[in-house]
Amino acid sequence: MGFSNDVKSELLREPMREECCARAEMCAFFMMAGSISLKGFSSYALTVSSENAAVVRYGFTQIRQFLGIAPELRTARTTQLGEHLRYQMTVEGEDAMRVMEWLDMKDSEAFLGIRREPSEAILEKDCCKRAYIRGAFLTNGWLNMPEKAYHLEFAVQDERHAEILAGLLSGFEIHAKAVLRKTQWVVYVKDYEQLSEALGVLGAFQAYMSLENVKILKQLHNNVNRQMNCDDSNTDKTVRAAEAQLQDIEYIQEHGGLDQMPRPLQQIAEARINYPDANLAELGALLDPPIGKSGVNNRIRRMMAFAQQLRESRGEI
Ligand SMILES: [Zn+2]
Repeated sequence: MGFSNDVKSELLREPMREECCARAEMCAFFMMAGSISLKGFSSYALTVSSENAAVVRYGFTQIRQFLGIAPELRTARTTQLGEHLRYQMTVEGEDAMRVMEWLDMKDSEAFLGIRREPSEAILEKDCCKRAYIRGAFLTNGWLNMPEKAYHLEFAVQDERHAEILAGLLSGFEIHAKAVLRKTQWVVYVKDYEQLSEALGVLGAFQAYMSLENVKILKQLHNNVNRQMNCDDSNTDKTVRAAEAQLQDIEYIQEHGGLDQMPRPLQQIAEARINYPDANLAELGALLDPPIGKSGVNNRIRRMMAFAQQLRESRGEI
C-alpha cells in the first residue's frame, strides 16, 4: 500500500549479495531501528523492530545467510499513535556477540562497550554507503505519493544519526535537511531532482521511472492549464493546436506508447511538453539537430497519426 511500500518491496526483491554491503545494510538496521538490552553480566540482546513485516523478514534472512544465525522473530503490540503491530527480530547472548562483531559494533571505549554509530570500516566503500542508506530507508524511510508531493524522509532517533545520514546522502549530491519534529529527528528531501537522485542511490529504478512519469503528466497538466488561461487572440490558434497535440501526447504516454514511437517523434513530443506555447518554427529550433518548420509539421502529423492509431487499436474510436 502506497509508494513507500512499493519502493520497499522493489528493493527487497534485490537483496544485498556482497558481504561488505550486506553488512553495511544490516548495520543500518541495527543502528537505526535497533535497541540493545543487557541480559545479565556482559550478555546482550539486540532487537530490530519495524511495522513492516517484510523488512524484518528480510533482516532475518540476511543474518541467517551471512552468519548462519537464526534470530528469534516476534510480534509486539504498540499503542503509540493508535494500536499497531510491530515485527521484531532478536539475537541474544553468543549470537548477539557475533552480530556485534560482524557489524563492528564493539568498542571498549564506548558506553557498555558498544558503538552506537557505524564505524569507518563499515562505511569505507561507496557501495557500502549506498547499502547503509538503503538499510536506513527500509527501516526508517517514508515516501509520499509523488502525485501529491515530492517528499522522502527518514525518521531517526537522534541528532547524531540524522547527521550521519545527511552526510552520507550529501556524498551522493543529495542535500537533505534535518529537523527536530517533536521528539524525533527527520532527515528529508523535497525537491523532484533530489528525490529522483535518491531513488537512484537506493537502486529503486522502477520507482525512479514512475516518478519521472508523474512529473511528465504534472507538467502536461500545468502547461495545458496555463495555456487555457491565456486569452490573447493571436496565440489562440497556436494554443488550440498545441493543446490538441498535448492531449495526444498524454494519451500516448498513458498507454505506454512513448517509447514505441520513432526517436524523431519522441523528440518532438518532448519539445512540445517542455515548450507548450512555442510555434512550429520555434519548436524546430529547439531540437538537436534543429529542423525547419515543415519538418516539425511533418513530425507532428506523424505523432498525431500515431495517437490516432493507438486509439483505434484500443477500440476507442
Ligand atoms: Zn559494499
